[in-house]
Parts: sequence; structure tokens; C-alpha cells
Amino acid sequence: MQQHLVAVIAHPDDEFMAAGLLIRAKNLGYRTHLICGTQGEAGRIKGQYFRGIRDEELSTIRQKEFGVSCLLLNIDSYYNLGMPDNRAEAWNFEESAAELEAILLSIGSSVIITFNSDGGNRHPDHVGMHRMTVQAFGALPKNEYELYFNTMFPKSYSQAHTLLKLPPPIMDQITIDDNEVSAIVALSKEEHLMKLTVLDIYRSQFPDERGLYYKMPLKMLETVSRYECYENFSGGTVADLSHSSRSDMLFDMFL
Ligand SMILES: [Zn+2]
Repeated sequence: MQQHLVAVIAHPDDEFMAAGLLIRAKNLGYRTHLICGTQGEAGRIKGQYFRGIRDEELSTIRQKEFGVSCLLLNIDSYYNLGMPDNRAEAWNFEESAAELEAILLSIGSSVIITFNSDGGNRHPDHVGMHRMTVQAFGALPKNEYELYFNTMFPKSYSQAHTLLKLPPPIMDQITIDDNEVSAIVALSKEEHLMKLTVLDIYRSQFPDERGLYYKMPLKMLETVSRYECYENFSGGTVADLSHSSRSDMLFDMFL
């Protein structure tokens, strides 16, 4: 049976967080899908490449960038729920949740990934998409769908400092409790390079060669983005992170 991986995001460019897993899944024969909540029209055009272009045209530009990103990642299908960007309070939540559920049903049995409950960066749109995905997932046939949340690094894993080599204040910002992480995906060099290229595509948002993503310096971004951490919604941890050696934690997740 054909296997599917679906990433549910809020804005064109959010697919970066799960790009490594999307690439891995594709190489393993999965069909991959992106469902985006908004068109990203509330952002600002940044950088020298777009001088003279009005902010109103941003939606069109970001849709084009999204299309290129989907091509790069070899995404099989993508959808946009067309909700107002940066105005989660104005979303017709129930209607969009029903639409999301219908799309997931039409794709069929899948592994679904989305933001965790704080949206990764507390952006209300990210939090909204998390809530919407949890609601839609609850209405899907049991045993046919799995739901995972993209998370920060588990504390015990990062405290070793052997991999990330980042100063303690930064480690505090990018780590969470071990029991909130079910799996870590360590990307190969090739997977990682392709993932970073996604940021190069979004010139309207990250004009300074990847450096502005989550306001991280480039070096840190390159280190952190080599790994993707996920929490299984049903709560079962895949491995006991607190008692594993570092190499044991670099297990492959559900794929
Ligand atoms: Zn976003």
C-alpha cells in the first residue's frame, strides 16, 4: 500500500522545519504532501531583490516561492486553506478544520506532522494550525493516521554539548523536557544541504543567505537544522532518551 507523509504548516516557508523528513520520506518511496493554512500575505517583503515591489504583492511572491520549494522537495500535492495570515482570531476555525479533515481523508492513511502546542515560536498562526490539526486528527479513522509534532531538542540529549556545541543560554532556548520528544532524525549531508536550499528559495523572507531564520546566526542554524525532533501525539516515547548513549539517540523514527 502507498504510504503518505503530510506536513501541516501555517505559512509558505514553515515547511523548512520538516524539510529533512519530507526529503527522507520521499527517498524511501512515500508520497509527500504539504497543507498550508495561509498564503503568508501579512509578512513584509525584505531585502534588495524585491526593491520597488509593494507589500500587497507579497502573497503572489510567497506562493511562487512555495511552488519552487515544493518542486525542490518533490512534493506530490499541496493545498492552501486560504485563511487570513497573522489574524488567527479571524479564522473560521471549524470550517477550516473540516476542510483539513477532508483533505487528509482524501490523501488516505498517513503519517501527519505539524507544530507542537507552542507553535515552535509561539506564533498564533502556528499554534492555531497545531490545534486545528489535533481536532481534524481526532475525527479521522483510528489506526489509519499517526500524528507527530515538530519539537525542540530533548534536554538530556543536548546537555552533552558534544553535538551542538552551543553556549548554555542558547541551549536553554532550544531544548525541552525529554518526555516531549519521541524521535530524533539525524539528516545526512545531502538531506541537510537540500533542506538549507529551501531557505535560499524564500528570498522575500530571508534575504541574507539563510541568516535570518528564527533570527539565528547562520552557523547556529546550520548546526541545529541537521536534526529534526518529533513527539508522537499518542504520547508513547520511542526510546528512553535519559538513559541512552548519544549514538543510541540518533535512531530513525517511524520511517
Ligand atoms: Zn510560520
